[in-house]
Amino acid sequence: MDNCIFCKIIDKEIPADIIYEDDVILAFHDLEPQAPVHLLIVPKKHLTSLDDVEFEDIDALGWLMAKVKDIAASQGIETGYRLVCNCGEDAMQTVKHLHFHLLGKRKMLWPPG
Ligand code: AMP
Ligand code: ZN
Repeated sequence: MDNCIFCKIIDKEIPADIIYEDDVILAFHDLEPQAPVHLLIVPKKHLTSLDDVEFEDIDALGWLMAKVKDIAASQGIETGYRLVCNCGEDAMQTVKHLHFHLLGKRKMLWPPG
């Protein structure tokens, strides 16, 4: 996808601090961390947001979810974490490539605001 910053990270056209990669997903550190651990986990397929997800994407997103616990464990997160997906304008999604924020190593607040 042209001009998608996360596609460029996936294609290694721009650098990122990658901590996990396989054929389906990529996980890398967020540039502006909001917690001691703040990763972004993305499907390699360009999907604009959750609104873009179709039946054919179930395997990739199921795999992504199955890997979350391993990625969290690889960062030494032992006492819980939060997985956040901002979808659309009201949720303040800024990058239009589906991504999940994995936040950990601090106590979270609820409601999130
Ligand atoms: P969202 O508001 O859910 O769309 O979150 C987008 C996230 O991407 C923000 O937390 C940004 O800090 C992060 N981000 C934007 N560009 C980059 C980049 N080049 N490398 C790593 N994280 C990025
Ligand atoms: Zn993309």
